[in-house]
Amino acid sequence: MTKKQKDEFVRIDGRKRDELRKPYIIEAGVISKADGSAMVQSGKTIVFAAVYGPRKVIPKHLEDQEKALLRVRYNMITFSVPDRKKPGPDKRSMEISKVIEHALRRVVFLEDYPRTAIDVYLEVVQADAGTRVAALTAASVALADAGIHMRDLLPAVAVGRVNGEIVLDLNKEEEDVENAVDLPFAYLPSTDEVVLLQMDGITDVDEIHEMIELAKKGCIEIYKLQKRALQRKYERYLINE
Ligand code: ADP
Repeated sequence: MTKKQKDEFVRIDGRKRDELRKPYIIEAGVISKADGSAMVQSGKTIVFAAVYGPRKVIPKHLEDQEKALLRVRYNMITFSVPDRKKPGPDKRSMEISKVIEHALRRVVFLEDYPRTAIDVYLEVVQADAGTRVAALTAASVALADAGIHMRDLLPAVAVGRVNGEIVLDLNKEEEDVENAVDLPFAYLPSTDEVVLLQMDGITDVDEIHEMIELAKKGCIEIYKLQKRALQRKYERYLINE
Protein backbone atom coordinates (compact mmCIF):
# COMPACT_ATOMS: atom_id res chain seq x y z
CA MET A 1 0.00 0.00 0.00
CA THR A 2 1.38 3.45 -0.94
CA LYS A 3 1.62 6.30 1.61
CA LYS A 4 -1.27 8.10 -0.15
CA GLN A 5 -3.47 4.99 0.10
CA LYS A 6 -2.53 4.63 3.78
CA ASP A 7 -3.44 8.26 4.48
CA GLU A 8 -6.81 7.82 2.78
CA PHE A 9 -7.67 4.53 4.52
CA VAL A 10 -10.91 4.77 6.51
CA ARG A 11 -11.73 2.57 9.56
CA ILE A 12 -14.93 0.89 10.77
CA ASP A 13 -15.94 4.06 12.67
CA GLY A 14 -14.77 6.48 9.96
CA ARG A 15 -11.45 7.39 11.59
CA LYS A 16 -8.10 7.64 9.82
CA ARG A 17 -5.47 5.10 10.87
CA ASP A 18 -3.62 7.56 13.10
CA GLU A 19 -6.63 9.18 14.80
CA LEU A 20 -7.61 8.84 18.46
CA ARG A 21 -11.25 8.03 19.18
CA LYS A 22 -13.82 10.80 19.30
CA PRO A 23 -14.39 12.26 21.73
CA TYR A 24 -11.02 11.98 23.42
CA ILE A 25 -11.33 13.94 26.67
CA ILE A 26 -9.13 14.29 29.77
CA GLU A 27 -10.34 16.18 32.84
CA ALA A 28 -8.39 16.69 36.08
CA GLY A 29 -9.85 17.24 39.55
CA VAL A 30 -13.19 15.52 39.00
CA ILE A 31 -13.57 13.94 42.48
CA SER A 32 -13.52 16.52 45.25
CA LYS A 33 -12.88 14.10 48.16
CA ALA A 34 -9.75 12.64 46.56
CA ASP A 35 -6.30 14.22 46.91
CA GLY A 36 -6.05 14.02 43.12
CA SER A 37 -8.32 12.73 40.38
CA ALA A 38 -8.90 12.51 36.66
CA MET A 39 -11.28 11.21 34.02
CA VAL A 40 -10.30 9.89 30.61
CA GLN A 41 -12.81 9.24 27.87
CA SER A 42 -11.74 7.63 24.62
CA GLY A 43 -14.84 7.10 22.50
CA LYS A 44 -17.06 4.81 24.54
CA THR A 45 -14.35 3.90 27.07
CA ILE A 46 -14.58 5.99 30.26
CA VAL A 47 -12.25 5.63 33.27
CA PHE A 48 -12.00 7.57 36.53
CA ALA A 49 -8.82 7.72 38.63
CA ALA A 50 -8.69 8.79 42.27
CA VAL A 51 -5.47 9.18 44.28
CA TYR A 52 -5.34 9.19 48.09
CA GLY A 53 -2.02 9.96 49.71
CA PRO A 54 0.68 10.17 50.70
CA ARG A 55 -1.12 8.87 53.80
CA LYS A 56 -0.59 6.65 56.84
CA VAL A 57 0.07 2.99 56.03
CA ILE A 58 -2.54 0.60 57.38
CA PRO A 59 -1.60 -2.05 58.47
CA LYS A 60 1.54 -0.38 59.82
CA HIS A 61 3.84 -3.39 59.33
CA LEU A 62 3.62 -2.77 55.55
CA GLU A 63 5.44 0.57 55.97
CA ASP A 64 8.68 0.98 54.04
CA GLN A 65 11.29 3.16 55.81
CA GLU A 66 12.86 4.14 52.47
CA LYS A 67 9.90 4.91 50.23
CA ALA A 68 6.15 5.13 49.78
CA LEU A 69 4.05 2.05 49.25
CA LEU A 70 2.32 2.41 45.86
CA ARG A 71 -0.97 0.49 45.63
CA VAL A 72 -3.01 0.39 42.44
CA ARG A 73 -6.48 -1.07 42.06
CA TYR A 74 -8.00 -1.35 38.58
CA ASN A 75 -11.68 -2.29 38.60
CA MET A 76 -14.40 -2.65 35.97
CA ILE A 77 -17.79 -1.85 37.47
CA THR A 78 -20.72 -4.20 36.90
CA PHE A 79 -22.51 -2.01 34.35
CA SER A 80 -19.35 -1.10 32.38
CA VAL A 81 -19.99 -3.80 29.77
CA PRO A 82 -23.23 -4.95 28.02
CA ASP A 83 -23.31 -8.26 29.97
CA ARG A 84 -23.24 -7.50 33.70
CA LYS A 85 -19.68 -8.02 34.96
CA LYS A 86 -19.36 -10.06 38.14
CA PRO A 87 -18.29 -7.58 40.85
CA GLY A 88 -14.97 -7.81 42.63
CA PRO A 89 -11.41 -8.62 41.63
CA ASP A 90 -10.64 -11.34 39.09
CA LYS A 91 -7.44 -12.57 37.43
CA ARG A 92 -7.65 -10.00 34.64
CA SER A 93 -8.18 -6.99 36.91
CA MET A 94 -5.40 -8.15 39.25
CA GLU A 95 -2.99 -8.50 36.34
CA ILE A 96 -3.94 -5.07 34.95
CA SER A 97 -3.51 -3.48 38.40
CA LYS A 98 0.01 -4.95 38.59
CA VAL A 99 0.93 -3.84 35.07
CA ILE A 100 -0.24 -0.27 35.75
CA GLU A 101 1.52 -0.20 39.13
CA HIS A 102 4.74 -1.38 37.47
CA ALA A 103 4.52 1.41 34.86
CA LEU A 104 3.78 4.09 37.49
CA ARG A 105 6.79 3.01 39.57
CA ARG A 106 8.95 4.27 36.71
CA VAL A 107 7.62 7.82 37.04
CA VAL A 108 6.70 8.45 40.69
CA PHE A 109 9.46 9.54 43.12
CA LEU A 110 8.41 7.09 45.85
CA GLU A 111 11.58 7.77 47.85
CA ASP A 112 10.29 11.30 48.52
CA TYR A 113 7.54 9.83 50.74
CA PRO A 114 9.01 7.23 53.14
CA ARG A 115 6.64 5.41 55.56
CA THR A 116 3.51 6.44 53.62
CA ALA A 117 1.06 4.87 51.19
CA ILE A 118 -0.10 6.26 47.86
CA ASP A 119 -3.32 4.59 46.73
CA VAL A 120 -4.49 4.80 43.13
CA TYR A 121 -8.06 3.66 42.44
CA LEU A 122 -9.03 3.15 38.80
CA GLU A 123 -12.70 2.62 38.02
CA VAL A 124 -13.79 1.70 34.50
CA VAL A 125 -17.37 2.92 34.21
CA GLN A 126 -17.73 2.16 30.50
CA ALA A 127 -15.55 -0.39 28.69
CA ASP A 128 -15.09 -0.48 24.93
CA ALA A 129 -11.47 -1.70 24.71
CA GLY A 130 -8.32 0.15 25.72
CA THR A 131 -9.34 0.41 29.37
CA ARG A 132 -5.88 -0.33 30.82
CA VAL A 133 -4.26 2.45 28.76
CA ALA A 134 -7.07 4.92 29.55
CA ALA A 135 -6.68 3.99 33.24
CA LEU A 136 -2.91 4.55 33.13
CA THR A 137 -3.37 7.87 31.31
CA ALA A 138 -5.86 8.95 34.00
CA ALA A 139 -3.61 7.68 36.82
CA SER A 140 -0.65 9.95 36.10
CA VAL A 141 -2.92 13.01 35.75
CA ALA A 142 -4.55 12.15 39.09
CA LEU A 143 -1.12 11.70 40.74
CA ALA A 144 0.04 15.06 39.39
CA ASP A 145 -3.25 16.60 40.57
CA ALA A 146 -2.50 15.20 44.05
CA GLY A 147 0.84 17.03 43.94
CA ILE A 148 2.88 13.80 44.03
CA HIS A 149 6.46 14.29 42.78
CA MET A 150 6.91 12.62 39.40
CA ARG A 151 9.43 12.53 36.57
CA ASP A 152 6.67 13.38 34.10
CA LEU A 153 3.12 12.59 33.03
CA LEU A 154 2.72 9.17 31.46
CA PRO A 155 0.49 8.93 28.40
CA ALA A 156 -0.67 5.50 27.18
CA VAL A 157 -2.56 4.23 24.15
CA ALA A 158 -3.20 0.96 22.35
CA VAL A 159 -2.20 0.41 18.73
CA GLY A 160 -2.78 -2.63 16.61
CA ARG A 161 -3.48 -4.25 13.27
CA VAL A 162 -7.05 -4.55 12.06
CA ASN A 163 -7.86 -6.09 8.66
CA GLY A 164 -4.16 -5.79 7.75
CA GLU A 165 -3.91 -2.08 8.66
CA ILE A 166 -1.84 -0.61 11.50
CA VAL A 167 -4.22 1.63 13.49
CA LEU A 168 -4.25 3.81 16.63
CA ASP A 169 -6.56 3.52 19.66
CA LEU A 170 -8.63 0.43 18.77
CA ASN A 171 -12.26 0.24 19.85
CA LYS A 172 -13.91 -3.04 20.86
CA GLU A 173 -15.36 -3.68 17.39
CA GLU A 174 -11.84 -3.39 15.91
CA GLU A 175 -10.27 -5.49 18.67
CA ASP A 176 -12.79 -8.25 17.95
CA VAL A 177 -11.94 -8.50 14.21
CA GLU A 178 -10.41 -11.89 13.33
CA ASN A 179 -6.59 -11.93 13.54
CA ALA A 180 -6.50 -8.43 15.03
CA VAL A 181 -3.35 -7.45 16.95
CA ASP A 182 -3.63 -5.26 20.05
CA LEU A 183 -0.59 -3.61 21.60
CA PRO A 184 -1.10 -1.50 24.75
CA PHE A 185 1.75 1.01 25.07
CA ALA A 186 2.90 3.71 27.52
CA TYR A 187 5.67 6.13 26.77
CA LEU A 188 7.57 9.02 28.35
CA PRO A 189 7.91 11.60 25.57
CA SER A 190 10.48 13.70 27.49
CA THR A 191 13.03 10.85 27.66
CA ASP A 192 11.82 8.67 24.76
CA GLU A 193 11.37 5.73 27.19
CA VAL A 194 8.87 2.92 26.67
CA VAL A 195 7.33 2.11 30.05
CA LEU A 196 4.65 -0.43 29.08
CA LEU A 197 4.39 -2.74 26.10
CA GLN A 198 2.03 -5.70 25.98
CA MET A 199 0.75 -7.55 22.96
CA ASP A 200 -2.12 -9.77 21.96
CA GLY A 201 -2.03 -11.44 18.54
CA ILE A 202 0.49 -12.65 15.97
CA THR A 203 2.69 -10.19 14.10
CA ASP A 204 6.30 -9.65 12.94
CA VAL A 205 9.21 -7.33 13.79
CA ASP A 206 8.52 -4.83 10.98
CA GLU A 207 4.89 -4.48 12.03
CA ILE A 208 5.89 -4.06 15.68
CA HIS A 209 8.22 -1.20 14.70
CA GLU A 210 5.44 0.42 12.67
CA MET A 211 3.00 0.01 15.58
CA ILE A 212 5.47 1.52 18.06
CA GLU A 213 6.05 4.56 15.84
CA LEU A 214 2.30 5.16 15.63
CA ALA A 215 1.85 4.57 19.39
CA LYS A 216 4.56 7.16 20.17
CA LYS A 217 2.74 9.74 18.02
CA GLY A 218 -0.53 8.94 19.81
CA CYS A 219 1.15 9.26 23.21
CA ILE A 220 2.62 12.67 22.32
CA GLU A 221 -0.90 13.84 21.41
CA ILE A 222 -2.34 12.45 24.67
CA TYR A 223 0.53 13.99 26.67
CA LYS A 224 -0.54 17.46 25.44
CA LEU A 225 -4.14 16.74 26.49
CA GLN A 226 -2.94 15.58 29.94
CA LYS A 227 -1.06 18.84 30.46
CA ARG A 228 -4.01 20.91 29.23
CA ALA A 229 -6.34 19.10 31.65
CA LEU A 230 -4.13 20.09 34.60
CA GLN A 231 -3.82 23.66 33.35
CA ARG A 232 -7.64 23.92 33.08
CA LYS A 233 -8.07 22.56 36.60
CA TYR A 234 -5.77 25.23 38.05
CA GLU A 235 -7.40 27.97 35.99
CA ARG A 236 -10.76 26.92 37.50
CA TYR A 237 -9.16 26.85 40.94
CA LEU A 238 -7.78 30.39 40.59
CA ILE A 239 -11.11 31.76 39.33
CA ASN A 240 -12.92 30.20 42.33
CA GLU A 241 -10.38 31.43 44.91
P1 ADP B 1 -8.35 -3.48 27.58
O1 ADP B 1 -9.66 -2.96 28.08
O2 ADP B 1 -7.18 -2.83 28.23
O3 ADP B 1 -8.27 -3.43 26.07
P2 ADP B 1 -8.75 -6.36 27.35
O4 ADP B 1 -8.07 -6.50 26.03
O5 ADP B 1 -8.57 -7.44 28.38
O6 ADP B 1 -8.27 -5.00 28.05
O7 ADP B 1 -10.31 -6.15 27.17
C1 ADP B 1 -10.84 -5.59 26.00
C2 ADP B 1 -12.28 -5.23 26.20
O8 ADP B 1 -13.05 -6.42 26.40
C3 ADP B 1 -12.59 -4.39 27.42
O9 ADP B 1 -12.28 -3.01 27.25
C4 ADP B 1 -14.08 -4.62 27.55
O10 ADP B 1 -14.77 -3.83 26.59
C5 ADP B 1 -14.18 -6.10 27.19
N1 ADP B 1 -14.17 -6.93 28.40
C6 ADP B 1 -13.14 -7.21 29.21
N2 ADP B 1 -13.51 -7.96 30.28
C7 ADP B 1 -14.83 -8.15 30.15
C8 ADP B 1 -15.82 -8.84 30.92
N3 ADP B 1 -15.52 -9.49 32.05
N4 ADP B 1 -17.09 -8.84 30.46
C9 ADP B 1 -17.41 -8.21 29.31
N5 ADP B 1 -16.52 -7.53 28.55
C10 ADP B 1 -15.26 -7.50 28.94
